[in-house]
Amino acid sequence: MTSNRRTFAIISHPDAGKTTLTEKLLLQGGAIHLAGQVKARGQARRARSDWMKIEQQRGISVTSSVMTFERDGVTFNLLDTPGHEDFSEDTYRTLTAVDSAIMVIDAAKGIEPQTRKLFEVCRLRSVPIITFINKVDREGRPGFELLDEVADMLALDVSPQSWPVGMGGRFEGVFDFASNTVSRPEGGSREFLGKREDDPSLPEESAEEIELAKIGYPEFDEEAYRNGDLTPVYFGSALKNFGVTEMIEAIAAHAPPPRAQPAGDEQISPDRDEVTGFIFKVQANMDPQHRDRIAFMRMVSGTFKRGMKLTPSGLGKPIAIHSPILFFAQDREIADTAEAGDIIGIPNHGTLRVGDTLSEKNQIRFTGLPNFAPEILRRVKLKDPTKTKQLRKALDDLSEEGVIQVFYPEIGGQWIIGVVGQLQLEVLVDRLAAEYKVEAMLEASPFSTARWIAGPEAAMKDFEQFNRANLAKDRDGDLVFMAKSAWDVGYQEEKNKDLTFSATKER
Ligand code: GDP
Repeated sequence: MTSNRRTFAIISHPDAGKTTLTEKLLLQGGAIHLAGQVKARGQARRARSDWMKIEQQRGISVTSSVMTFERDGVTFNLLDTPGHEDFSEDTYRTLTAVDSAIMVIDAAKGIEPQTRKLFEVCRLRSVPIITFINKVDREGRPGFELLDEVADMLALDVSPQSWPVGMGGRFEGVFDFASNTVSRPEGGSREFLGKREDDPSLPEESAEEIELAKIGYPEFDEEAYRNGDLTPVYFGSALKNFGVTEMIEAIAAHAPPPRAQPAGDEQISPDRDEVTGFIFKVQANMDPQHRDRIAFMRMVSGTFKRGMKLTPSGLGKPIAIHSPILFFAQDREIADTAEAGDIIGIPNHGTLRVGDTLSEKNQIRFTGLPNFAPEILRRVKLKDPTKTKQLRKALDDLSEEGVIQVFYPEIGGQWIIGVVGQLQLEVLVDRLAAEYKVEAMLEASPFSTARWIAGPEAAMKDFEQFNRANLAKDRDGDLVFMAKSAWDVGYQEEKNKDLTFSATKER
């Protein structure tokens, strides 16, 4: 029985209101008692580690987490995705672990670049999307313009499910199509306090708009939604509580239960009679006092019980999972059981890696969790050369966590790190200092990109012989071609037809 699980993420451009909506969802889900606690907790955590100052300064969320709450018999697993574009790699991986997503759009801004990028990732995997057009309590763009923008820019059918009755100074609530009710602003704060008004009388202009919205767009079609071809659209204000209940209800009613996951040519269904899952995220040093490390596993099938033995694909021998963690919003709780669709945190000391499959029988390998080719490569230089060992440990840890990728050149001792965004470099230097007491500098490297190479043994040997100066091993010991330019990659591909040069590495 997995049909009551809903595992989803919220995607948005920074500032669209993801944090606020998250808070309100958790609040309504009964997971927290006071709004504001998500941020407050975040701040307490930040204070513990220096590198997290970056988060504070830039107002971004680097750490991502899992929040579980229950409502009316449905278990919701909300996976937080870091919003800043520099953290796309981590975000993309998180999106491999969800079955659906809420896309939050600022009503004054419409589709912004990061919204679009994240949407494309969802589309690649046909992840269905519910759209929430936020901040209608403020002046925004006209509803029709926003609907058409979503439809045109994302090439999706849009099906409005509610409508703002005025915006900004003239805002008088949100009308819900299905229930024929309106949520009204109340009191000095102009919030929605929970009681919907039946058969409301609306200003003529709004009534006309609503008529047009109902007839001018496709009706909601669950199959089209689940295929990722249509998005139901809700208007609301996370800050003032409008449309939040509708979000929860829509996810409960329409969002898909846990989906089957690809493992090579096979699809592993949630009813498979074996516990399987994959690691989509590893977070080291959540508590620097303890140097702990949590691997986040998305359960794909079976019923997990505490103490169970599972075999991680990267290790090849079983480990007992004695203290798995469920991430209830308030606190970490020890999990006794977990079902397909649930996320469990597994404390470990480095045995579990992003992309690992965990299973009882060790017969399958989930596919589709890519490592992305880094776009920025830098040499790491130590201020104090006696700290080589600490540096290696730190780089291994942080690459395992997916913060950076690390490449150990075949010739020479200068290690190279790769990232997809500039901000990751700052995070790296800060974390090296704060958590590992290693002072390091980053210098230009002669390389501009990297490709994982594979092919027949003889061809690999040949290639290695002639290109040793441009070869490195990644954290797993896999061979990587370090290229000076895209041209360089093309040239080598042309010259070595037996080999594949891959920009992503599937683990
Ligand atoms: P995130 O970066 O997407 O997580 O955005 P936040 O939730 O932190 O919100 C960004 C800013 O927009 C904050 O100042 C919020 O208070 C504000 N905000 C969020 N939702 C609403 C809303 O519905 N109405 C208004 N007026 N402001 C909002």
